[in-house]
Amino acid sequence: MTATRTADAFRRLYGSAPEGVWAAPGRVNLIGEHTDYNDGFCLPFALPQRTQVAASRRTDGMLRLHSADVPSGVLTLRLAELDPARPPQGPDGWARYPAGVLWALLDAGLPVSPLGGADLHVSSDVPAGAGLSSSAALEVATALALTDLYGIPVTRTELAALARRAENAYVGVPCGVMDQTASACATAGHALHLDTRGLAQQHIPFDCAAAGLRLLVIDTRVKHDLADGAYAERRASCHEAAAALGLPALRDLPYADLDAALARLGDPVQRRRVRHVVTENERVVRVEELLRAGRLREAGPLLTEGHASLRDDYEVSCPELDLAVATAEAAGAYGARMTGGGFGGSALALIDADAEAAVSGAVTQAFARAGHRPPRITAAAPAAGAHRLE
Ligand code: ADP
Ligand code: MG
Repeated sequence: MTATRTADAFRRLYGSAPEGVWAAPGRVNLIGEHTDYNDGFCLPFALPQRTQVAASRRTDGMLRLHSADVPSGVLTLRLAELDPARPPQGPDGWARYPAGVLWALLDAGLPVSPLGGADLHVSSDVPAGAGLSSSAALEVATALALTDLYGIPVTRTELAALARRAENAYVGVPCGVMDQTASACATAGHALHLDTRGLAQQHIPFDCAAAGLRLLVIDTRVKHDLADGAYAERRASCHEAAAALGLPALRDLPYADLDAALARLGDPVQRRRVRHVVTENERVVRVEELLRAGRLREAGPLLTEGHASLRDDYEVSCPELDLAVATAEAAGAYGARMTGGGFGGSALALIDADAEAAVSGAVTQAFARAGHRPPRITAAAPAAGAHRLE
């Protein structure tokens, strides 16, 4: 998908060339799952797959939206009527994401006036609903396009915050800050270490190709209905456990004190949830150290340990994810884990570059034997965060 094609489609739709084309990537989290609402650490990287937004300004207070990926024609909204209590619904529900970004910009009281509206055309190769954050890619690409077009001075961290606000307050999804930050701030050849308390970032070298490695992203193509309720339940359970331990957040429980803290919690389920969060934060720190030392292969077993923790202690995996991980490992992966919130979506496997065909083939066969839909498997290398294309 080239910027020229996106610009051409814009011209056919709206009758003139766009003022620019912007892109923001999907993301995969290498390690650090379900830590962001515990003020913990995560280590995502940007995917080569990205969402492009071609855009021009308007002067009449209208927002026109079109996506090549949703058969809904051009949608027209009035800026003055954007209201989080009444976002677009039904098949046009995708419009909530870009409309939410405009709403968040207006609501932030940034120096946006006169923000006269915009024409947008969206085109993406990030699979939607695969746990690779197509929603954040769409929000961040839209936010970058609008702030660039209107000359609104925002840092990348502020851009991510605007995009997240759109998803939390306008779309109504209580996501953490990782997805938008990865899409807005990641750099090619690096993983992004994000401390979700204070939002300090570090770019950690993660050049898989130079090390003869590949990352396989295995989209299981399943999404279980459990996800929303379970997310809210896990979040609540963590916050209750932190309160019971007298801590602001589970991030404040040092790994060395874990056993003593667990002994103070009466509920076995809560103990498992806490153990996942605290050991997962520790795994982020260890993986980061290994990446810094160039010992990429040694991170594999920590990924696999992280999967077991999500499966057994946090209980957010599913049979398809477990099968993808177990099969990838048996076929020679250094490590593998589910990535994203769970109950479907994608798994990640760290493999030798020349093992790609063998591992992909083994996972595809295992899915066929188990009667699952064929997974979608792609090789990824850490790519660039959001940027202007033309
Ligand atoms: P994920 O972020 O894991 O891909 P979500 O459910 O959070 O899954 O977001 C997917 C939703 O985002 C889609 O259902 C759609 O509404 C919107 N979306 C993502 N990419 C696009 C796109 N290219 N065009 C239109 N809508 C999109
Ligand atoms: Mg999403």
